[in-house]
Parts: sequence; structure tokens; C-alpha cells
Amino acid sequence: MTKTLAVLGSTGSIGVQALEVARLSGFEIEALTANSRTDIIEEQIREFNPRVAAVADEKAAADLKIRVADTSTKVLSGAEGVEECARCGADTVLNSIVGIAGLAPTLAAIENGSNIALANKETLVAGGKIVMDSAAEKGVAILPVDSEHSAIFQSLQGCHGKNQIKRLILTASGGPFFGKTREELSKVTLEQALKHPNWSMGAKITIDSATMMNKGLELIEAAWLFGMKAADIDILVHRQSIIHSLVEYVDNSVIAQLGVPDMRIPIQYALTYPDRFVSPVKQLDLAEAAMLTFEKPDYETFACINLCRKAFEQGGLFPAAVNAANEKANELFREGKIGFLDIPKAVEAAFDCVNAVSDYTLEQVFETDKTVREATERLFI
Ligand code: NAD
Ligand code: MG
Repeated sequence: MTKTLAVLGSTGSIGVQALEVARLSGFEIEALTANSRTDIIEEQIREFNPRVAAVADEKAAADLKIRVADTSTKVLSGAEGVEECARCGADTVLNSIVGIAGLAPTLAAIENGSNIALANKETLVAGGKIVMDSAAEKGVAILPVDSEHSAIFQSLQGCHGKNQIKRLILTASGGPFFGKTREELSKVTLEQALKHPNWSMGAKITIDSATMMNKGLELIEAAWLFGMKAADIDILVHRQSIIHSLVEYVDNSVIAQLGVPDMRIPIQYALTYPDRFVSPVKQLDLAEAAMLTFEKPDYETFACINLCRKAFEQGGLFPAAVNAANEKANELFREGKIGFLDIPKAVEAAFDCVNAVSDYTLEQVFETDKTVREATERLFI
């Protein structure tokens, strides 16, 4: 039987690649959503003929309604429209929305019983406990799309119990600035930060890779996905992005997943798991790669990694706070309003904006997000 799929954030870097995978694997598309790019989503609607589509921006949604009036796709608008698409009942809902805007749609899809293919890591960082509890209660799977987490998930196939795992090792490319000093980082430009050595991605995550906040967010993501303590997750800089992550077992045997840096591999595995299908992705040629290198991260210069580790260890709303500070600072940096090193500064300042709590509600996550964004803005402007 044909599997049905919804792609939230279908106009983005991951969304477009997810539709390419869906096209080749013959998925039926139930729903598509975007923030504003009506030209791209119009084309996608014409090709995939989804039952429903949504555009978060109200004006853009009105534009899309006119553009696709001759099709049978129902067009919804606003954050509620995106959530309704998440509730479309597809077998799998792939969430590739960027930022905390993905949290409510992830929960809506889980509540409606769809499996989640998750690219939107901010969802797990900000609301990890709520998302994982809700998925367990509904009996739905959260399949990682993030390449490191897909690598760990693949390396865990055949594992006979969590007590056999010693640690997870997340690899990091190090981004465009690995090896630079703080002094050098204080002068980097937006253009330099947007030049990732190995991956072509959306602007927000590309900046997160340059600050290595991305690895901090991924550490929290891995802790929730695989039920690990932060202390049992290590980071290893591997500049070539060929080994996507590793699992060390108690007998010191290490299992890793390798491949060329192409997101269509982890996207496809999340959609076709437990099966594997032929892929158009380039074959890995290790002789051509010739050398794989490994180094320790420079935790002092790239302070965001350990700030995320600390936030996860302190628990409660601290991860939501560091995520919000980073989202806001990342945006201000892309707007040319703050410097590169102001991003870790903002993330550190977020710890003063929240109190320790042992349990939290979704409302508190959104409240924390709002308070910390405002505080971050006040820090600089
Ligand atoms: P992107 O900026 O290219 O695309 C983001 C998508 O989200 C777009 O379709 C956009 O329309 C939509 N969107 C943005 N704001 C929205 C809002 N307020 N409401 C609804 N929709 C909104 O981003 P991307 O690079 O594809 O990344 C998406 C997610 O996947 C991020 O969480 C990122 O960390 C994660 N991720 C990306 C990559 C990658 O290779 N690009 C790899 C691993 C993980
Ligand atoms: Mg990643």
C-alpha cells in the first residue's frame, strides 16, 4: 500500500529534498506547508496534488489561494493552518520547519497518531520532555532526519538493550571557523559565516554550524531521542563529514554510519525505515576521500556547545531558554545588527532569565521563549 506523507516546511532546504525522496520512493503527499514562498509551494502543489496546504504568513496564504484556485488542494493560513496540516492523518509527518514554530505542529501530528520524521531539532530542545512523553503515550515513532541522529539510530539497529551502550559520539564538521581564535571570530562577517565547508543548508542552521550552537542543540536532541545522559554524549570534530556519528558499546566496539554528506540519505531512511531503497545519492569512495581526521572541539572558543550541555543538565526550561536566545541572536546577526560573538553572549545571558523547575507545561515553554527573545533584544538594542 502507498505510504502517505505530510511535509511541513516543504519550501526549505530539507523540505525540497524530502519531496525529491518522496517522488522517487512513490509516497502520496497529503499536506504541504510553508512560511511565505508561494511560488515554490504552488509548483509543489501542482506536482504532488496534496489534499491540503498551509502558509503561515496570512498575506502569502491569500496569494497562494488565488494561485492554486484551479486545483483541488484546500489552502489554509496562519500557524493554525500549519497545525491543521500536521493533523492531516498521514502515516508520517516530516517536520522541516525551522525554529520553535515547529513545536506545536510536531505535537499536533503526534496527538493525531502520525509517525514523525524530525528535522526540526528546536522541537526537542525546547519541549523535549513534552514531545517524548506525548509520543510514548500515543505509541508513535520519532525518526531522526538530522544526519548525526540518523547515524546513531542506524548504528543502534541490532542493539539488545540500553545497558549495552557506553556512549554516543556526535561528529561535527566544525563549520567554517574551526581553528580560529576568539580574536579572529570577533571580526568575521555574515558572508563568511554563511559559507559552510560541507553542507548546503538553510541560513539559520548554517549560522548555528558556524557558532557550533548546532552541535549543542544536537547534543540535547540526542539526549532526548536516545534517552541518554548528556555526560554520555561526546563531540568529535571530523572535518570531512563522512562519518556521521558513532555508538560505543560496553565492550568498546564502536559502530558508525558513513556516507557522502547528502541529507537525502538520512531523510530517506526516516521515511522508509526499516527498509532501504536505491538512492540517487553519490556512492562513498573512501579511497577518493583518502584521509579522515579527528580532533577535540575547542570548547572555550565555541562556548555554545557547553552552554547547551549545561542547559540540558540543569533541565526544566533552561534548554528552551538557550534555544530562544540563540534563535533571536542568530536572527539579529543575519540582520547585521550584532556581531558573531554576541551570539554565545546571548546564549549565556539566557540562564539568568529562567528559574529552575522540575516539570513544565507547553505554555511555560512558549512563555520562556517569548521572555528570553525580548531579553535578548534588550541586551543589544
Ligand atoms: P530552511 O530555512 O531552508 O527552511 C525552513 C522551512 O520552514 C521553510 O519551508 C519555511 O517556509 C518554513 N518556516 C519558517 N518559518 C516558519 C513559521 N514561522 N511557520 C511555519 N513554517 C515556517 O531550513 P532548513 O535548513 O531546511 O532546516 C529546517 C530544520 O531542519 C531546522 O530545524 C534545521 O535545524 C533542521 N536541519 C536542517 C538540515 C539541513 O541540511 N538543511 C540538516 C539537519 C537538520
Ligand atoms: Mg546535524
